[in-house]
Amino acid sequence: MERIVDAAIVGAGVGGLSAALFLGRAGRSTIVFDGGKTRIESVEEVREYPGFDGLPPQEVLSRARAEVHKYGIEIKRQRVASVTPRADGLFEVYHGHSVTLARTVVLATGLIDKLPPLSGLPMSWGRDLRVCPCFDGYEVQGKRFVVFGVPKRLVHMASWVWMWSRDVTVVSEHAFTDVELDRLRLLDIDVIADEVTGLVHSGERLEALITRKGNSIACDAAWIAADMVAASDLAASLCDVDEMGLARVDSAGRTSRPGIFAVGNAADPAAHLAHASAAGTNVGPHVVMYLLEREIERRTANQKNADSADISQRVS
Ligand SMILES: Cc1cc2nc3c(=O)[nH]c(=O)nc-3n(C[C@H](O)[C@H](O)[C@H](O)COP(=O)(O)OP(=O)(O)OC[C@H]3O[C@@H](n4cnc5c(N)ncnc54)[C@H](O)[C@@H]3O)c2cc1C
Repeated sequence: MERIVDAAIVGAGVGGLSAALFLGRAGRSTIVFDGGKTRIESVEEVREYPGFDGLPPQEVLSRARAEVHKYGIEIKRQRVASVTPRADGLFEVYHGHSVTLARTVVLATGLIDKLPPLSGLPMSWGRDLRVCPCFDGYEVQGKRFVVFGVPKRLVHMASWVWMWSRDVTVVSEHAFTDVELDRLRLLDIDVIADEVTGLVHSGERLEALITRKGNSIACDAAWIAADMVAASDLAASLCDVDEMGLARVDSAGRTSRPGIFAVGNAADPAAHLAHASAAGTNVGPHVVMYLLEREIERRTANQKNADSADISQRVS
C-alpha cells in the first residue's frame, strides 16, 4: 500500500525546512522533497538573517536539516514531478518512480532569477553581480555601481542602490519616460544607452562591464534587475498563480485549493531568508488546523453513518 503522510513539503530551502520543523514538532507525519539547489546557495555568505549573518549558506541549511531530522522527518533528494488531487481529498505526489499520498502539500519551491547570457556570469553570480542591496550593499557601500537589466525594474533598482552609493550608472537602451529620467537626474544617476554583454574580472574582483557597443565601464559592483519566475510549475497546475507563476496565498499561506499551501519565494518574490522562514513557521499551525478539521469531518460522517445504521436496524 502507498504511504500516507499528513504533509508533503516540496522544497528544502529555509521556507520548507521551517514548515517541516513546525510540523515535526506538532507530531505530524511529514516528508520533504528537494530536487535541486536552493537560491541562497549561489552566495558565499548569508547576510541579514539574524543569528546567521556571515555564515556560509550550506552551514545554515545543514543546521536546519539536522533540526528537522531530529523530529523523524525524512528529506528525500528527489524532484516532485507532479501533484494530483484525488476525489477523497488526498494528493498523489509523484517523485522519482514513486508516489506518496499526502493529506496536505506545502509548496516551498522557490523561484528562479532569469539571467541574460553574459560572459563571465558563472564567476560573478552571487558574488559581484548582485540582486538587492539589502543582502550585500553594506559590503560595497560607496563604491562604483552599475545597474542594468529589465526596464520595468531598472529605475527602482538604480534609485534603491543609490542609498548605498552616490556613484551609480545605469546602462540600458530603454527609452525612459521623462518622469523616470527626472528621478534619475535628481539623484545624479547617469544613463549610458548601451547593453551589458559581459563582466570582466581582475583575479577574483570585478573591474568592468563590457557592452554590445564595445565599451568597457569600470565598476566595483554590478546590480541586475532580473525577471523572476516560479522554480516549478506545480503551483500553476494546482492553484491560482500570478504572472510569474507564483502561488497566490492568503496571510495563512493557503492557496486557492484547499489542502495546498505555499511559502517563501514560491509565493512571495520579495521574501528574504527571514521572511521565507517566518512563512514556513506561520503555515505550520494552519496545516495542523486543516488536518484537524478534516479529522472532525471524518468522525462526524462516521457518527452519522453509525446513527443511521442504528435507526434502520431498530425500524426493521
Ligand atoms: C544572489 C542572491 C543573494 C541572496 N542573498 C541573500 C541574503 O544574503 N540574505 C537573505 O535573507 N536572502 C538572500 N537571498 C534571497 C534568498 O535566497 C531567498 O529569500 C531564499 O532562498 C528563499 O527561500 P525559499 O525556501 O522560499 O526558496 P529556496 O531557498 O530557493 O528553496 C526552494 C527549493 O525548492 C526546490 N524545488 C523547486 N522545485 C522543486 C520540485 N518540483 N521538487 C523538489 N524540489 C523543488 C529547489 O531545488 C530549492 O532547493 C539572495 C538571493 C539571491 C539570488
